[in-house]
Amino acid sequence: MDPKDEIKGRVDIAELVGEYVPLKPAGPSRFRGLCPFHTEKTPSFHVSADKQIWHCFGCNEGGDCFAFLMKIEGMDFPEALLHLGKKVGVEVARYDKTETNEKRRLTEINELAAKYYRKVLLESPLAQAAREYLAKRGISETLAETFGLGFAPDAWDSLTLFLGKRGFRPLEIEKAGLVLRRRDGTGIYDRFRSRIMVPLCDQHGNVVGFTGRVMPGAPDDSAKYMNSPETPIYHKGRMLYGLHLAKQAIKREGKVIIVEGNLDVIASHKAAVEHVVGSSGTALTEDQLALLKRFTSTIVFSFDADAAGFKAAQRGIALARQNGFDVRVAVLPADAGKDPDDAVQKDPELWRAAAAKTEPIMQYVIDRAVAGRDLTNVDDKRAVAALVMPELGQIKDVIEREHWLQTVSDLLRTDIDVLRRAIGPTVSMGAEGQGSRRPERSEDDGMSRSRGPVDTARATPRRSREQQAARSILGIFLQDPASRPLIVAALEERYLPDETLRSLYRSAREAYDSDQSDLAPTTLFSLLQARFTGQDSELSLLNEVALLGEELGAGQVKELLDSLQSSDRDRRRKAIEADMRQAEASGDRETVEKLIREFNALR
Ligand SMILES: [Zn+2]
Repeated sequence: MDPKDEIKGRVDIAELVGEYVPLKPAGPSRFRGLCPFHTEKTPSFHVSADKQIWHCFGCNEGGDCFAFLMKIEGMDFPEALLHLGKKVGVEVARYDKTETNEKRRLTEINELAAKYYRKVLLESPLAQAAREYLAKRGISETLAETFGLGFAPDAWDSLTLFLGKRGFRPLEIEKAGLVLRRRDGTGIYDRFRSRIMVPLCDQHGNVVGFTGRVMPGAPDDSAKYMNSPETPIYHKGRMLYGLHLAKQAIKREGKVIIVEGNLDVIASHKAAVEHVVGSSGTALTEDQLALLKRFTSTIVFSFDADAAGFKAAQRGIALARQNGFDVRVAVLPADAGKDPDDAVQKDPELWRAAAAKTEPIMQYVIDRAVAGRDLTNVDDKRAVAALVMPELGQIKDVIEREHWLQTVSDLLRTDIDVLRRAIGPTVSMGAEGQGSRRPERSEDDGMSRSRGPVDTARATPRRSREQQAARSILGIFLQDPASRPLIVAALEERYLPDETLRSLYRSAREAYDSDQSDLAPTTLFSLLQARFTGQDSELSLLNEVALLGEELGAGQVKELLDSLQSSDRDRRRKAIEADMRQAEASGDRETVEKLIREFNALR
């Protein structure tokens, strides 16, 4: 059996979706919830357990278990296949066994190390000081559990021994980045000692490395933070700390906040601000941006009142803008401390408020340039212009650029045309700016394809009455065998306003006519699903119609048929009128009379 079908057969879609979306039962094997893909207050997101499909009537997204995972996790199809295969125990062949086997093994070692460090933190007397330190920093047990925090004891070989007992060879452990080789080459020893261990996870939550934070009171020459080295599974430039925990919140909020440190991310969760990732204090890279693009197109940088991080972030900001992100800024108030961690320790509300109130990056740049200057003084004016104009020149979007030109023109009381000339012809950063560099990527690091921005607030415009009625009647046809004879007798194919609808109806009727008139809804559904394999628009319509049918009752059949009939009559009447005008113009009496008879017959 094709692994795809086998997986589909084993996955419980309600359970899978339920991991992301709170679902409420809405009938036998039906569920309803708030759509994770667009913003809404009343649930229009439907899941059918017996048909194994989902559909949102608000934004018209829908599909099967793979489509759901691809959309919500930003996976591509092979990733979704692997992920679900693992979940339900179906072996999915990989492209490159040796490479992925090594990666899998290195991940396993890191996962195991995380468990070990965690256990030490929770249970060992050696971790007493670490436990006290975390408690003092206000990191609760729940929070520590969520982030998998642990402790590396002050010993040279405790992890090495632990992993060795589980059959891992020194060379593998070294490759996983957890040990160092003795200078004389005689063996290995633990890389992390007497440190609070923060596991670094990829976007799927696999542990790929660690940051170890030194304990207070350690010798002065020990680095405050120590990271795993670059390994086949850990690349600093691709890591976004906390992304695996932030994905849902990022989609929900429609934006991601970038903070510097891992502890800022943890503190932010404590303040219930979960759409946050840590950049590890470096400027954002192309790889990180490509990863974020899967989830949102709005990036919020956070700075303290002194804008200490602003300069360091500038390169990342420029890169984000070139890659088409909407860049905004969250500013911590002056008394809140230097980072989100500080702020949350003072009062979680400080950070919550700052995170909720973001402003466009240009506004931030302008405010900063203007601060402390006297705009009636010509030198100050020039200084402000020197700071602001280069930024203005970077804005790709004409409308947006004009908006900020106007703002600056008002502020400096300088003619907008003069300013416009001053920034000169703007560099187009369109095609070549976006992804001119395509770094080589391996098959399963999850970075290979960047997707378009996710528009979280999008809901499609309402369908016309006729489209809605057509979908409803087909839905009832699928779902209610008892209504089928009535529908077949009254519903002409031409009543349906487009070809996809007609084609679906034709196939459903074929099944009905070939003496299978009382096919169970799920059987008819699978039959049609097989019939339209590979035809995306038909399949998506089928999903929608099937879920709609589950919602509707047979009681509406008559009304729906009447409404479709009358729409059809209107359409034909209009056509006849047009023909009549033409015939009259050409003086064709005979045709006119024939058309009048037809017209009257339609009354
Ligand atoms: Zn939706």
